[in-house]
Amino acid sequence: MQEDCIFCKIAAKTIPVNAVYEDEYLIAFPDIKPAAPVHLLVIPKKHIDNILEAAPEDTALLGHILATIPKIATIAGLAEDGFRTVINTKDNGGQTVYHLHFHVLGGKFMTWPPG
Ligand code: 5GP
Ligand code: ZN
Repeated sequence: MQEDCIFCKIAAKTIPVNAVYEDEYLIAFPDIKPAAPVHLLVIPKKHIDNILEAAPEDTALLGHILATIPKIATIAGLAEDGFRTVINTKDNGGQTVYHLHFHVLGGKFMTWPPG
């Protein structure tokens, strides 16, 4: 847990969270400012700034998150029509919260390319 990290506080439930899915390693919850009808954030409970900072020992954790996203998307009703998964990294990637998170967006047709 990193002091002053909003997502660490959400993972620790210091800040109340409306979790869509949770296990020992990750938690999924709605984005406070949704960019699509369904917009979830999937975060590791462990603090990692972003994928650039993921260490070799985080490889299984990263795989677990990716492998669990289909289950989370199914729970959120996104499996039939599909969804988009996004990881923003540092300034040019549009990262604003420096605790690794996977955006899961759906409920509408997502245009491409992103801005
Ligand atoms: P980023 O821009 O870093 O890829 O994404 C951060 C996301 O976190 C943004 O979409 C933003 O709306 C969301 N966010 C920021 N603070 C909070 C919060 O306190 N609660 C929730 N649920 N989402 C947050
Ligand atoms: Zn954190």
